[in-house]
Amino acid sequence: MKYIDTHCHLDFPEFDRDRAEIIQRAFEEGLIAVINVGTSLKSTKKCLSLTSLYQNCWATAGIHPHHVREVKTGELEELAVLAREEKVVAIGETGLDYHYGREDAAAQKELFRWHLRLARQLHLPVVVHQRESRDDLLTVLKEEGLPERLVFHCFGGDSVLLKYACQHGCYCSFTGTITFEKADAVREAAASLPDELILVETDAPYLAPHPWRGHRNEPGRVRLVAEAVASVRGQRREEVFRLLVENALKFFHLEISESISDERKGGKRRQ
Ligand SMILES: [Zn+2]
Repeated sequence: MKYIDTHCHLDFPEFDRDRAEIIQRAFEEGLIAVINVGTSLKSTKKCLSLTSLYQNCWATAGIHPHHVREVKTGELEELAVLAREEKVVAIGETGLDYHYGREDAAAQKELFRWHLRLARQLHLPVVVHQRESRDDLLTVLKEEGLPERLVFHCFGGDSVLLKYACQHGCYCSFTGTITFEKADAVREAAASLPDELILVETDAPYLAPHPWRGHRNEPGRVRLVAEAVASVRGQRREEVFRLLVENALKFFHLEISESISDERKGGKRRQ
């Protein structure tokens, strides 16, 4: 069985002491690709450096809305240059997050618009982060126009967003939250989405699925998320796993050569 973790943060300090082992283990457990998602200029650079160490790691370029206040002059220009690197397969994570208040709302929207325009220019998909900001997010998307492909990462089950995703062909990506006891809305969303719009991710080091909840998460646990998706959809596991890999390859336009898809060779460093 093969898996792809479409969203994780292996560049984070939580992995400083055993990053190489974690990556190696993930590939031994059946992962064929890992997308490391940039959250700042510095993080994007680190994700890119991982792509040069590991053939089957890819990166995204973006600044998370939480970091909107830290963006310095010239950083966006630099990010736009990095976004053109061969192993950058998406723009983000970007979006709006009002969980800690709306003081930065205007700046967040401006930064989100910048990412959407860059993605359109480079024909890249966008990884969207959304928390307590749905209406503003949909307004910005309406005003800017949708990029070629877009994913609502860590989909929380919001019914308006679900309807929007289905109508506009946006992808929804599920994390370990789908295994949490009180996450019925997430499970209902995963059950009702059309086959071609579902992705899975870990968001590691966060959101470890049951029975690892509260622990540091890692890419190999995307398998538990995929199993949960299969079970709520009442579909055969093999069928769903294959579908999830196909969707990820299609969304990010990943090309995995035969030698890379070999499970053992998978995680090894480039010669
Ligand atoms: Zn993330």
